[in-house]
Parts: sequence; C-alpha cells; structure tokens
Amino acid sequence: MELLNGKETSQIIMKEISDAVRNRKSEGKKIPHLAAILVGGDGGSITYVNNKLRACEACGFESTLMRYDDSVSEEVLLNKIHTLNEDKSIDGFIVQLPLPPHIDETKVILAIDPMKDVDGFHPMNLGKMALNMPAFISATPSGIIELIRRYELDTAGKRCVIIGRSNIVGMPLSILLSQNKEFGNCTVTLTHSQTKNLKEICLQADIVIAALGQPGFVKEDMVKEGAVVIDVGITRVKDESKKTGWRLSGDVDFDQVAPKCSYISPVPGGVGPMTVASLMMNTLKAMDLKGK
Ligand code: NAD
Repeated sequence: MELLNGKETSQIIMKEISDAVRNRKSEGKKIPHLAAILVGGDGGSITYVNNKLRACEACGFESTLMRYDDSVSEEVLLNKIHTLNEDKSIDGFIVQLPLPPHIDETKVILAIDPMKDVDGFHPMNLGKMALNMPAFISATPSGIIELIRRYELDTAGKRCVIIGRSNIVGMPLSILLSQNKEFGNCTVTLTHSQTKNLKEICLQADIVIAALGQPGFVKEDMVKEGAVVIDVGITRVKDESKKTGWRLSGDVDFDQVAPKCSYISPVPGGVGPMTVASLMMNTLKAMDLKGK
C-alpha cells in the first residue's frame, strides 16, 4: 500500500508556484492577489480560510481577507462582490461557503465575475469544464486530479465509483474523470444517498472516491483488493485525547481499508492540502489569463 501524500505533494506544487512568482517579481511584473470573503464565526470556515491565506503567503501572493458578521445583509455582500469584480488589483476571490440561511448562495455565486471565480463555482466555469473547455475547475476536484497526475496513476478504462454528488466535489469529479483526456477516461459511477447496493457497486471499483461527509463510512468489505481509495471527507469527531476535544475524520475507515489498497489518501494530509494548492494554481492562472 502506498500513501497518496497530499501534504507533501501540495508543498511541491506551492514551491513551484512561489518560484514562478519570484521570477515574475524579479521581472517587475504583478504578483497574484487573492481576496477571501468570510461570513460569520464558524470554526471550520475560519480554519479553511486561514489555511488559504497561509498558502498565499507561502506562494508569495498578496491576500486580503474581508470578514462580515453573521447578520450581514445579502445586499452588502453582493455590493462587495461587485467591487471586487471591478478591482483590477484583485486577480481572483472566493466567498467561503456555507453562508447564513438568509443569504442566497446561488445569487452570490452568480454575482462573481467568472474570470475571477477561482473556486470554479460559477455556472459559466462548470459548463465550460463539462465541455472540456479551458475553465476554472473547482479546487477539490482539480486537486484530486492533480494528485492522480503527480502519482501517475493509471485511470484509462478503470472503473471509478464516486460516493456523493455535490456540485463542488462529486458531480464535477465524475465529469472530469470520464472525459477523454489524460487522467480521465474512467468508467464512472456517481453514487448518492438514494443508491441501492452501494457495497456491491464499490466492490467492482478500481478507484473509490468517498465524498459524502460520514466519518468511517467506507469499510474493508466495500473495497476490492488493490483498489485506489481517495478520501475527500473532513468531519470533526469527538476525541477526548486531543487538547481541542476533537480530531478530523475522513469518510474511509483508514485502518481497515488501507491494507487492501494499492494507494490510499489519508485524512488529514490527503485531499485537503491539495484543495488549497489547487486554489493557488487557479489564482496564478487568473492573473496569467489577464496577461498581467
Ligand atoms: P455534501 O455534504 O454537499 O453532500 C453529501 C453527498 O453525499 C450527497 O450528494 C449525498 O447524496 C451523498 N450521501 C450522503 N449519504 C450517503 C450515503 N449513505 N450513501 C451514498 N451517498 C451518500 O457533499 P460535499 O460538500 O461534497 O462534502 C462531502 C465531504 O467532503 C464532507 O465531509 C466535506 O467536509 C468534505 N469536503 C472536503 C474537501 C477537502 O478539501 N478535502 C472539500 C469539500 C468537501
């Protein structure tokens, strides 16, 4: 069994990005600038945004954080998005989800200029991605593809089962892995909460990708010998042995499943850091696209 080490791989990618940024700087060119909007005080969201800002620093990017109270109105948020769309110093920006219930997430996503939508959530980017046209691909699916690419895993003709069909992970990943291109060409089955016989379906898979948000859901009897298992899940579970009282758990029961796998990604240290590295790649691309 070999570990798909997302932490190490993401550090290599960010080093490559910071070298590129240093070269740009020495040529007197603009350096990438990522802005992040964070609403409310959810612990998970704060951690995710802080990780992204730390990554900006590691890559030599400029970054700006805009924080709002839970009570911020939709109008104020939309106005801020319009300002960021117009601000030439900002190459890309993200609005950390989820947003409070009184704010319409779809409206917010639609308000983002697709050319600055480094999260790849805008329908323009999702649509282009589905048609295999150049687009910003959302960070988690593109991070997973990059992990597969860096480990040179064979995907052509392989059976891939994805558990979870969200717009930000499962659905786009199912499209990317089925496309006729390098690190695609899988025969993909996209499963979800209404899927019957999930265990039997998973047992046929050469590649299992778990993105459902249920800690330890994938057990040893769901995975065939030699399969590649990629764990996207991140859930805080109680752990009295930790100072914080919790630890992060993936959707795969790692201890049970790992001995059967050819490759497996851990949590933490797997898909999470690759997601952050992908966001940095998208931000660099956003600046390049404008020819700055
Ligand atoms: P979500 O929470 O929006 O949806 C869950 C999906 O799982 C749904 O499509 C649902 O149909 C499916 N599902 C639920 N129960 C199921 C079951 N018993 N069998 C089969 N399918 C089932 O999904 P999400 O936003 O993609 O998040 C999934 C997990 O991935 C969460 O733990 C989240 O924290 C994590 N996540 C991690 C990263 C990362 O960077 N590592 C990024 C995004 C999400």
